Amino acid sequence: MAGNWKMYGKTAALAEIRGLLDLLGKGPRPAADIMICPPSTLLAQAHYAFGKRDILLGGQDCHPVPEGAHTGDISAEMLADVGATAVIVGHSERRRDHGETDALVAAKAAAAHRAGLTAIICIGETEQERREGATLAVVGRQLDGSLPPSATAENSIIAYEPVWAIGTGLTPTPRDVAEVHGFIRDSLGGRLGREEAAKIRILYGGSVKPSNARELLAVGNVNGALVGGASLKAADFYAILSAYS
Ligand code: PEP
Repeated sequence: MAGNWKMYGKTAALAEIRGLLDLLGKGPRPAADIMICPPSTLLAQAHYAFGKRDILLGGQDCHPVPEGAHTGDISAEMLADVGATAVIVGHSERRRDHGETDALVAAKAAAAHRAGLTAIICIGETEQERREGATLAVVGRQLDGSLPPSATAENSIIAYEPVWAIGTGLTPTPRDVAEVHGFIRDSLGGRLGREEAAKIRILYGGSVKPSNARELLAVGNVNGALVGGASLKAADFYAILSAYS
């Protein structure tokens, strides 16, 4: 269960991680791995303050190479150095804002593996692609192109995030989610073999909230959620985590 803070949060936002840890300490602890992916400016502070506790930390993007003349970029090794154990790659906002291709996303995922990080590889169709009935074709193409040869169930997580559901309050029906997640599982079987594909975690992402988390998490082949807006507030994220079983 991962929270993607996107480009939200200054130092004061660390109080939300503290608040989440408090809630987790008081109530029943969900049987999930719990991760926050804050802006990279907060990673080191979050790691030193809370890194030994119940919450894993992840980055939101990485450059394919370990170091070099790439102003403004951050490598997977640098994320690992400040306590990240995972990194999101290929989020639709990066594909949209930075023109990231599947090949670049695969290179970033391979970089994550090289640095010992889990790659959370995001895929998902646009509203128009869904309207045109191209969802499975798009998801299949993105999965194929974004998964590097180094991917295993141990070092990779797939996040299915329909672009039209991100930050909009809209969600696919449980039946639609089941169809796409089942398709992803089958496609992974073709790439990694059935046994490995059965173990890989497939997250759903897109407007997951306390009010819909239980229904979405109960869908077959949904192994967790990637949560954006609702992960910014400890109480909301805790309510979503509580829906995990
Ligand atoms: C995301 O950023 O990955 C996301 C799913 O956002 P939201 O939950 O706000 O739709």
